[in-house]
This record gives sequence, C-alpha cells and structure tokens, in this order.
Amino acid sequence: MRVAYGYDQEHVDDLARALGWATANEATFVRLTEMSVDESGMGNAEGRQTRRFKVHGVLCDALRTKSVGVIEEIREKGIKKYAQPAGVIAGLLPVTNPVVTIRGSRIYSEERQCPAARTTSNVEKVRFQNSRQDENRNLMPAVAPDFREAKRSMRILVIPIILAASAAIALAQNSSADTVNAHMTAAAKAAGFDHIGLYNTTCARLGDPAGGRAAPPQHDRDPETWGAAPAQVFDHVYWLGEHAAYESHPSAWAVDTSEGIIIIDALHADSVQTQVIGGMQKLGLDPKRIKYVFVTHGHTDHYGGAKYLQDTYGARVMMSGPDWDFIETQTSNEPKPKKDIVLTDGQKFTLGQTTITMYITPFHTPGTISFLMNVTDHGQPHVAAMWGGSGWNFRGTDSMEKKLATFKIYHDCAVRFRQIVEKAGADVVMGNHSYLDLAEQKNALMAEQGPNASNPWILGKQRALNYEIVAEECSAAGLASFR
Ligand SMILES: [Zn+2]
Ligand SMILES: [Zn+2]
Repeated sequence: MRVAYGYDQEHVDDLARALGWATANEATFVRLTEMSVDESGMGNAEGRQTRRFKVHGVLCDALRTKSVGVIEEIREKGIKKYAQPAGVIAGLLPVTNPVVTIRGSRIYSEERQCPAARTTSNVEKVRFQNSRQDENRNLMPAVAPDFREAKRSMRILVIPIILAASAAIALAQNSSADTVNAHMTAAAKAAGFDHIGLYNTTCARLGDPAGGRAAPPQHDRDPETWGAAPAQVFDHVYWLGEHAAYESHPSAWAVDTSEGIIIIDALHADSVQTQVIGGMQKLGLDPKRIKYVFVTHGHTDHYGGAKYLQDTYGARVMMSGPDWDFIETQTSNEPKPKKDIVLTDGQKFTLGQTTITMYITPFHTPGTISFLMNVTDHGQPHVAAMWGGSGWNFRGTDSMEKKLATFKIYHDCAVRFRQIVEKAGADVVMGNHSYLDLAEQKNALMAEQGPNASNPWILGKQRALNYEIVAEECSAAGLASFR
C-alpha cells in the first residue's frame, strides 16, 4: 500500500503485471501450491498447477480495465467513480468450488492469447508477449525497477485468489446461446478433471475460435523445457513424450510387440533423439527393433522426428493419404519423411499381439487419425482409444461458410468416434499431447504408488468415453455458436 499509493495507471498496471508474472511462472507456482497444500493439508498440488493459466488470463483482462483515477462517469446522474490501489488480495488456503474451477479454466485456458479486440495498443501486446517469454525463463519482466520490490513482497503470498469471472462467452444471440450453453455444460460435466485439457482447447476457445493460440516463444524449443521422464504404462506400452510446459509439447509412444516396436508419433526433429531414442534406452528397449512409425497427423510436432527414425533404423513410416499430401504443403524447416505407407479409414494394422484400428477424423489436419489399440496390464486386456482430432484448427478457413462446413466434419467425426469407443468398450485414453491425457501426472502417480497399485491409466469405460463426449459436445456447442 505504501509502495502503490499515488501510482498512476501505468505504474499500477506494471505492479499488477509484476505480481502476476512473479506468481504465475511455473517454478513459483509449483512452489506456492506445494507450500499451501503442505501447510493447510487441504487440496492437491498437482491438480492446482494448471490453474496458473488463470492468473495469466485474469491479468490479461485486468490490464485492460481502468482502475486508477476516474474510472466511470454517469453524466445524467452527476456521478463520478474514483478508484485508487488498495493492496493485493491473497488467500491462504487452496479452496475452490469444482464447478467454478471448470468454468474458470474454460475462460482462462493455457496458451490463450488476450483477445485482440480487447488489446488496447500494440505496445501492450508486445509487453504482454514479452512477459510470457520471461515467464518461461522464470525471469522478472524488466519494465520498472519496482518489480524487484514487488517480487520481494510476493513472499507473503501463498495463493492468489482468482476471482473466476462468471462472464458467459459471447458467442451467439438468443436461442442459440442456450443451445451453446447446454452443450458446454454437458461437456464440462463429462470433462471433470480427467479431460480438462481437451475442454480447454475446444469449448474454452469458442469465444475466439479464429484467434488460435499464442505462438510458443522462440526458446520454447530449448531442451531444458521439454525434458520428461519416460515411463512404462502397460505391459508393452511406453510413454516417451515431451514435458508439457506448453500445450505445443507433444507425446510419443512405443508399443513393444513380438515382431518389433511401433512408435506412435515421432515428436520434433530436435527431441526425437533425447526423448524417443534416449527414453527407450532408459527403459531397456532397443531402438534397433523399431519397425514402424505411425504418425497420427501431419504437424511437425508429430512427424518432425520421423525422418530420423526412417533414416537411422529403416523404420517404415505410416500416415493417412491426406496428411502425406498435407506435409508437402508445409514450409517448416523440420525434415519430412520419405512417403511410405498410406493408412486408410477402418484399416486394422497388426504387429505381433497388437492391433491398431485406424479411423480418419479430419479437421485438425485433413487426414488426422484416431485409433483403438488393445493393451494389457498385468496380463489383463484393455482397450485404449486416442482421439486424434484434439485441438481446433481454423487456419486456412477464411470464410464463415467454409469454417462451418469443415467444423461440421469435425463434429460428425466426433460423433462417429464416440460411437466406436462406446461399442469397443475402451477404458483407456491415450493422448498425443500430455495436457490431453495428463500423462505426466499419471506416470508420477504410478512411480509413487509402485507396480502393484491400480493403474491410473485405466479410467474405466465411462470416464474413457467421457473424453469423446467432450469432443462431441464441444463441437456441437461450436456448431450452434455459428448459427
Ligand atoms: Zn497438430
Ligand atoms: Zn500436436
């Protein structure tokens, strides 16, 4: 209060920004959540960590609101409203309402950019972007010397109270708004904590579908940010992903069969050696046994490492026909694998004891593949499903009609795959990004509980089906929002 008293808007914004970034950077937030759970004995530290993005989101909105001096004038009533900084609101306990949490998360999802419409100036945009980049390196933003003071005073905070905005996302008017809300509510209910990642990248983006995501900072591709421990998750299935510091960090999988190893997705060209090959070696798998690389879709985070595996181990690379064509249209620097096996809709691919059934579910890319795969846990059979559609991608769809038409395809695929998963009785969800299946949390739990505990990857049929329900309901909400 002593520090902030008399500050003008610019200084107050700087202070708020400093507090926001000091709290919401990953290292501090993890430390603060652990501290609060330790001290209070309440809550769950892992579960809380995704909420740091709400701090970003609240900050993003708060910086656009005038909070100092005359903040409102109602001329006809002769009323002027004044405001001055009154301090920092902090809470000591991690107390939240689960319903509010889902809604809050959907408003402030990871990687969400400040909507351009509310961005007041280009300078603000650049500052915000710079702050994001600083956040990744756990640096204080170098905007004002007072930040150091602000950072020191942060030590008294345990967890900032995030006032979850109850603002309904402005999507459409009148009756269709009710339909949108009904679908979003059904999706939120199905999402629960299990599938919050999918919810956040679909439903939560309905308010700004064309906005896409914030480009990861340049140094996002820094080995220090993607390192994650590999893990065996089933008798013959191994997780080899990147650490999900950003939504853009992908997962890869190794499926060990009596006839050789199938790699599902190859990560980036710069992480395939450390994460896929290094991960396999740590887990005692011989990379020379890699026979096939199955690429779920033609984005560089999934095919970037495929050429290395093709060249080094003679692995056969498999992708859908539309995505083999699609990667040729990309101008990325990541090496493209030589065109090899073309996968088709409904195809069953069998190697040893493993069968993967492929379904082409376009929209995310023209030939994104979703699949079912049989797995075993301590010898017991289970069915795993991966919905490849994942995040919404409106790039290249310039007109509203085109958006609606392609979006309808996503929805139809989501309905079809939900039916497939239901019929197959899948009880495991695999993701090609770990924010989608919470792979790192599940793997940590497995390591902590030991091999005889129940496997957190086995969700049971309803919880697994809920993933597809989120995809279906959120795309239904999306369709309704266009009407
Ligand atoms: Zn993708
Ligand atoms: Zn991806």
